[in-house]
Amino acid sequence: MTAELSSPVLKTDASTASTENVTASVDDIFAGLTRANSLSPSRASDFMTCPLLYRFRVIDRLPEAPSIDAVRGSVVHRVLENLFDLPAVDRTSHRANLLLAPVWEELLEREPELAEMFGGDTPDLTTWLDQCRNLLGRYFTLEDPQRLEPAEREVHVATQLGSGLTLHGYIDRVDVAATGALRIVDYKTGKSPGEHFEAKALFQMKFYALVVWRTRGVIPRMLQLVYLGNGEMLRYEPDERDLLATERKVEALWQAIQQATTRGEWRPRKSVLCGWCDHQALCPEWGGTPPPLPDRAEPEPFSA
Ligand code: SF4
Repeated sequence: MTAELSSPVLKTDASTASTENVTASVDDIFAGLTRANSLSPSRASDFMTCPLLYRFRVIDRLPEAPSIDAVRGSVVHRVLENLFDLPAVDRTSHRANLLLAPVWEELLEREPELAEMFGGDTPDLTTWLDQCRNLLGRYFTLEDPQRLEPAEREVHVATQLGSGLTLHGYIDRVDVAATGALRIVDYKTGKSPGEHFEAKALFQMKFYALVVWRTRGVIPRMLQLVYLGNGEMLRYEPDERDLLATERKVEALWQAIQQATTRGEWRPRKSVLCGWCDHQALCPEWGGTPPPLPDRAEPEPFSA
């Protein structure tokens, strides 16, 4: 594993990407997908962080206030996605900044309540937009989008394991080299993790790599996390052993989730991450009481 301040870009070629068969099989899988039979990296991470948090999000489906950091991440992701709609020559920092306002306005139109995020303890809109511009500017110090032609962007991937569990998730970008080698890229608007947290950061990427391997029969050559918060990249070249270990880990995690569901036991796990949890008032670790478990019979929609 290497953490780099900059790296040579992989020239990609959209014409080498073959996605038709994959899309067809993924559609079949999505047809029967519910939260009761599927797992995404985000929900897997929730359970590993705190089983009670997983329950609040997946079983109780409790609402959460929009986070100013998460919305900034969504907006920056969308700008980077739209940037690649432009001809290569136009993919400049200036054009990325011009894309920012329309992306934000479109999001605000869909979710007007986001306007209430600003002020008080949080930055005002002008400062927040400046923060978005800084993150976009940092992107251009790490990659040259004029030299990239992503094969896929924001692609929803899914695969069913032998146990019947479906894994799914959204990959920010897939690059395919002329040799056919795949690179999976994920943008992060936070800072790169310290040495002790790299494994956690890579879990999501190995999860995606496992899904890609199972659906396309190819192990991605490179997993690349692009940290816009501090301008670093984390790269990892997975092998078959890595992905088999990830599969075993995910299956074990799913068994633990099934066991918690059967027993109705969702233990809280107090940590520094509680500071970001919306549900402290309902958490026994913070003097709260969880609501009774819902009695739902209808299939649950899946989410990332
Ligand atoms: S406050 Fe902490 S322990 Fe409680 S549910 Fe949230 S993350 Fe878990």
